[in-house]
Amino acid sequence: MKLRQRIVLTLVGITVVLAIPAAYGLVGLRAVHDITDRLSQQRVATSTLGDLRNAAETALDGQRRYVAVFRVSSVLDDTTTAQDTSRVRIQVDSAIQSAVRALGVLRTQNGGEYARATVPAAETWSQIAENIRRERGLLAAREDAADTLRLALEDQFAVLEPRLDAIESTIVRRTGDELDEAERIAKNAASTTLLALALSLAATLLIGTLLTRTLLRPIALLRQGMGSVAEGDFEPHVRIPRERPDELGDLARSFGTMTEQLRELDRLKAEFVSVASHEIKTPLSVIRGYVTLLADGIYGDVNDQQKKTLEAVSAQTDRLTRLVHRLLDVSRFEAGGARLELRQIELRPFFDELTEDFRVLAVQNGIEFPVRLADDLPRTLVGDEDRLNEVLGNLLSNAFKFTAKGGTIRVDAARCDGGIQVEVEDTGVGIPPDKLPHVFEKFYQVDNEAQPRSVGSGLGLAIAREIVEAHGGTIGAESQVGRGTRFRVYLPERPPAAAGHA
Ligand code: ATP
Ligand code: MG
Repeated sequence: MKLRQRIVLTLVGITVVLAIPAAYGLVGLRAVHDITDRLSQQRVATSTLGDLRNAAETALDGQRRYVAVFRVSSVLDDTTTAQDTSRVRIQVDSAIQSAVRALGVLRTQNGGEYARATVPAAETWSQIAENIRRERGLLAAREDAADTLRLALEDQFAVLEPRLDAIESTIVRRTGDELDEAERIAKNAASTTLLALALSLAATLLIGTLLTRTLLRPIALLRQGMGSVAEGDFEPHVRIPRERPDELGDLARSFGTMTEQLRELDRLKAEFVSVASHEIKTPLSVIRGYVTLLADGIYGDVNDQQKKTLEAVSAQTDRLTRLVHRLLDVSRFEAGGARLELRQIELRPFFDELTEDFRVLAVQNGIEFPVRLADDLPRTLVGDEDRLNEVLGNLLSNAFKFTAKGGTIRVDAARCDGGIQVEVEDTGVGIPPDKLPHVFEKFYQVDNEAQPRSVGSGLGLAIAREIVEAHGGTIGAESQVGRGTRFRVYLPERPPAAAGHA
């Protein structure tokens, strides 16, 4: 699957997983919303019941007043009391109507939940309304039965009261139930949503981690590989998954092809340098030979001017020959074709011989040149004597090159960690910290006034490192500008088994 598809799929997965708790929350909210709706209907029912009570009371009081006023009007027979009678009657009628309306509302409220509790109250109320009408008729006919009916009406009002209470307690009970239900649903919704949220977060984290791992691991491997290539190792020992069918697989395959090509180019370059240097070596020695013959006057006399010129040609030819030899060395090490001639080296004679050559130079340049071979220095060491001589010779020649008259160059050799450590320290110009890490690179020379570029080729330390590492050892340097430089070489007493074929 391609990377883009994988990312899109993961994002969709995460969205779906996160939508689950949201859906749970919505369902809970919906249920709570329904209950709130029903609770607001309970409120309507409560206020309707209040209206009903008021209407009943108004009707009862009104009817009592009506009876009293009617009796007075029948004695007085004046227009004011007659008007009062009709006003009170209208009030009572209106209260009766209000009560009937309220009963109707209560019967249908909340999908008829209160219908059962309302029926007895409605029955009583219709009897009361009927009896009020009959009382008026009896009063108008001045019949004695009116008094009996009055008592019956008062009784009916007394019966109405508990029936209204019954409706009220039904409403209160229902409201309580609804509230309990709302609380239960809200609690359930909260805990389910929380659980779903926790599960979704865990799932999202898992999906995210899996995606990141599948993306980041190969990228980290590739970065490691690139780092190795950037440092000149064209055979990076990182297992990059080339078989992946996505873009990272493409990248890994391209990277593999690139390193193969770089290896091939590197091999061709080393081969070319090696062949070219080899081919140059012979004509150079022929030139050198003829120049010597010329200078020696074999082909006739040479004057002073010609002699000087021939000496210059000879010196430059020597320089070129040295350079060619070094190039040959470097390319051989790089192509893995250089062999070490391992032998037991007697260390004390080795150091004596090495430093002997430089003693004259030290005297000529007025440089102190102490050589200290520690008492615990092993007697022998297995290695390629000529190559090791080349390493330390280059360190010493560098030291002499960069140390002015009156300075000191020290050589210290001692036993160390199953081998020996040799230090070559000078009080010369030193190397700036930003240049120091590069001095072991091929053709690298520090650009400073103390050293004209023409002196040396910048290959000595590169070769020295190859040789030391081929012996299984290490080489390093520390330096302070203006105070001097110290090179430290560690060599094991016996190189690793493969070193003979380095
Ligand atoms: P070659 O050794 O090939 O004739 P080189 O001496 O210039 O030429 P390296 O021996 O590789 O090359 O040294 C690299 C550079 O490191 C030198 O050119 C010099 O700038 C710096 N360097 C090495 N040794 C010292 C030292 N003891 N003091 C100061 N600079 C040094
Ligand atoms: Mg050198």
